[in-house]
Amino acid sequence: MRCSSDEILEVAKKLKQIARSCRLCPRECGVDRTDDERGYCGAGLLPSVSSIVKHFGEEPPLVGNRGAGTIFFSYCNLRCVYCQNHQISRGVIGEECSIQRLASEMISLQAQGALNIEPVSPTHQVHAFIEALELGLSKGLDLPIVYNCGGYESLDVVKLLDGIVDIYLPDLKYADNNAAAKYSDCPDYVEHARTAIVEMYSQVGDLKLDSDGNAVRGLMIRHLVLPNDISGSIDTLHWIKANLSVNVTISLMAQYSPQYEARRFNELNRRINRAEYDRAVDLCWELGFENVFIQDFQSQDLGLPDFSEDEPFRWG
Ligand code: SF4
Repeated sequence: MRCSSDEILEVAKKLKQIARSCRLCPRECGVDRTDDERGYCGAGLLPSVSSIVKHFGEEPPLVGNRGAGTIFFSYCNLRCVYCQNHQISRGVIGEECSIQRLASEMISLQAQGALNIEPVSPTHQVHAFIEALELGLSKGLDLPIVYNCGGYESLDVVKLLDGIVDIYLPDLKYADNNAAAKYSDCPDYVEHARTAIVEMYSQVGDLKLDSDGNAVRGLMIRHLVLPNDISGSIDTLHWIKANLSVNVTISLMAQYSPQYEARRFNELNRRINRAEYDRAVDLCWELGFENVFIQDFQSQDLGLPDFSEDEPFRWG
């Protein structure tokens, strides 16, 4: 059951307090975001938004036939060298957005028939998102909230989202901090991501679908398979089984291609091959996972979003 309006307002206040000496993510920069100071992620007080669009490219239960109501935030608390959204994660594209406008955009997505509200990379803007969400709810917003994040989350912040977020959609990018440090500038990724995901799972449990097959609550973990097992797929799948459950919904992604700065790294400078992907897929079945979305291997050919366009996703 969702928190009351007063409870969400209280959470928004607590998050703003955390942003005052910013600990919204495990970087804990300590800058005063409420005074528009910038830390590692580069984000200021008001959210910077690069695209608000109904998006059909997510996993089927997040899209249905209505589309996910995605809100793409600019900036990021990770620096993945292969980031396919680098136009926005580095803040090159994005427009400052007031809390009132953000709330109106959510209402507008609902009016357009979106299946849910899905903030993408909300971690560093979560204080503003929750404030806007409360305003949207007071004006009739009534859609599931899908928290689509990179996994590098503050446990304290995730705890505050209990009863507000309906569906958690975190990445679990690595099983080894050396890889996380080298390719995402994040030497403590693994412990923070895993701890946060355990908390998310305790809040929302396994993915639940309505009678139309649309997700209404639960956890879905995304794992992008990287070349040469840089993403630690084998360890990651074993960890999920040992620490969560084989009922957890996993989205195994094949779409990696060497973009942005990835070409500087020989070991990342190619797509994954079929054998690498099949190894991860086969392990899912061997370990007994039943709820796995297997991305089509050909999705490597989809191309990249272009956030300078009104419709960044030309393929859907
Ligand atoms: S959200 Fe940004 S400013 Fe705040 S701790 Fe994380 S990286 Fe630093």
